[in-house]
Amino acid sequence: MTPRADVVVIGGGQAGLAAGYHLRRLGVDFVILDAQSTPGGAWQHTWDSLHLFSPAAFSSLPGRLMPAQPEEEYPDAVHVVAYLRDYEKRYELDVRRTVRVLGVHRDGQLLRVETDSGTWHARAVISATGTWWHPFLPAVPGRGHFGGRQLHTVEYRRPQDFAGRRVIVVGGGNSGAQIAADLAYDTELTWVTQRPPRFLADDIDGRALFDAATARRRALDAGRTDTGGVASLGDIVAVPPVRAARDAGLLTAAPIFTRLTRGGAEWADGTRAEADAIIWCTGFRPALSHLAPLQLRGPRGHIATAGTRAQDEPRLHLLGYGDWTGPASATLIGVGRPARDAAREIAALLDARHG
Ligand code: FAD
Repeated sequence: MTPRADVVVIGGGQAGLAAGYHLRRLGVDFVILDAQSTPGGAWQHTWDSLHLFSPAAFSSLPGRLMPAQPEEEYPDAVHVVAYLRDYEKRYELDVRRTVRVLGVHRDGQLLRVETDSGTWHARAVISATGTWWHPFLPAVPGRGHFGGRQLHTVEYRRPQDFAGRRVIVVGGGNSGAQIAADLAYDTELTWVTQRPPRFLADDIDGRALFDAATARRRALDAGRTDTGGVASLGDIVAVPPVRAARDAGLLTAAPIFTRLTRGGAEWADGTRAEADAIIWCTGFRPALSHLAPLQLRGPRGHIATAGTRAQDEPRLHLLGYGDWTGPASATLIGVGRPARDAAREIAALLDARHG
């Protein structure tokens, strides 16, 4: 007999754990399946110098405040991993590792969850697989001809790996700015961005981003004008290392090049930059390939949702991927609310089916 749970949560990062917390509170039977061998989701894989863009107390999952990290106002990724490990243990969340979900299929009244180590049947599924696992690389002429090393944000670790090298960092978001700041001192850095970098005011951190995302969602829900949300404030949180590099004059950005050559990048006016490596900090897409058998994806690759529920499959909820699954739901502090709503909706669905 295949194992069964009322709810299978796919992904044991912060979003999956927040879902587990609320399902447990509601007394729903569930299991969390996670492809990693250890707790912490994507935080286990980020670059060494990464720090959160909000203080610990503003980076907490439901039920348990993140403790402050000694001597760090903005905790580092190691601290986040320790917090998630503790969270999982404290609430006795049933996370099965190492289990990769390969596909979710409709199977009569149930959903069949095929994994690399067996099959589960569930009455509802929460997908919380994040975006880290689906890096995005833009199509750029000549990309295949470049003779140096090319890597994405997900592969970058530390500046020492590039000491003395000529490095092009592509991207005007937080990852691009932080990695450029990391490399600014010991490499020959060229930072390129699609439009001039937009730094948020120095006194604005993730707290304001959360407030802006929440205000936007409220405005949209109430049928008022779109406030523009987070994007209206700027693209780059001026975390201390970014501020320091910028203020030292080391973070000036060039516009995006027109093509890559064997030796580097070339702009339309004939300007060239030789490079040993290019780091693409060009973002992520939701990791949703395991949902392909359900055939729910729309033209832009997203699945249409009402709140967290897939519009065309009421037994499926999506959590944590971006604002489209709840305001700021791709953040530590923001995922709690949509996780609670998803758990409540699922509990109601299960009750209705029992009745
Ligand atoms: P993940 O952490 O990616 O967890 C998903 C889990 O699902 C992983 O363990 C993965 O192995 C598993 N999984 C994936 N596919 C499968 C599958 N098919 N089967 C089984 N398991 C699977 N947020 C903040 O609040 N503050 C910050 O300062 C902040 N900084 C960030 C900096 C960077 C560079 C990035 C990229 C993001 C940052 N975020 C920040 C956003 C967000 O908090 C993180 O991206 C976070 O990791 C998202 O959590 P998650 O649970 O949605 O996904």
